[in-house]
Amino acid sequence: ETGSTNADLLARLPSGADAGTAMSGPVLRIAERQTAGRGRAGRSWLSAPGASLTFSLAWRFRGPLHRLAGLPLAVGVALAETLAGLNVPVQLKWPNDVMKDGAKLAGILVETQAAPDGAIWAVIGCGMNLAPPDELEAAVGRAVASAPWLAQMDRNTLVATLLSRLAAVLAEFDDTGFPPFTERWNALQGWRGAAVNILDNGTVIQQGRAAGVDDAGRLLLDTPAGRVAVLSGDVSLRLA
Ligand code: ATP
Repeated sequence: ETGSTNADLLARLPSGADAGTAMSGPVLRIAERQTAGRGRAGRSWLSAPGASLTFSLAWRFRGPLHRLAGLPLAVGVALAETLAGLNVPVQLKWPNDVMKDGAKLAGILVETQAAPDGAIWAVIGCGMNLAPPDELEAAVGRAVASAPWLAQMDRNTLVATLLSRLAAVLAEFDDTGFPPFTERWNALQGWRGAAVNILDNGTVIQQGRAAGVDDAGRLLLDTPAGRVAVLSGDVSLRLA
């Protein structure tokens, strides 16, 4: 049991003083029970012990930081492709959600920290609903997806299956950046062509039809004024 697997790994990343002794390779942390799970912009990620998967992976990338802009989307591709191989077809919702049956099956949270040598550490968190009880849906206040078939799998095996593709994707991403993932992400996009709103802190700041992502992982929106590219930042996407 822990508060947040992402927070735990962030606290262990090398800082200037202990760079020699701190971790140098990938580290995985899995929680059976997470009591203070995090989403973006201070939002919470809720999970139910035994019915959810919560893990984080710390991975070292070459800098600079802007090369990591599309990382949450590439992680979504890795998860979605693995789930498809387990007979659980899912769609991706920009920028960081895995959707099934119109509701969130998994959330991805990427938090980064610069290393003293110019590399960038990313802590990649994933929370996945396997067999969420009704109380979890009530606590979230929105529909929550489930994957009963995955809930029956041995959870260590499930994490290992997700991680083996994730590791391959992260190594590829470090070499190439996001461009090779653009078409893979677009093929998995759930709301292609749908009328959507972009919300910043609850306020609609942009409207249009979702037209996929570009090579920088920005969401392309077709608007009456033409095509615009939206940077993820802290904005949220909703069906209009
Ligand atoms: P949104 O989904 O609202 O567009 P987002 O993708 O930015 O926003 P995150 O910050 O990534 O959301 O995740 C936190 C949000 O996810 C919470 O505000 C809550 O609405 C939702 N949430 C929290 N726990 C769960 C869960 N177990 N299953 C599905 N959704 C959840």
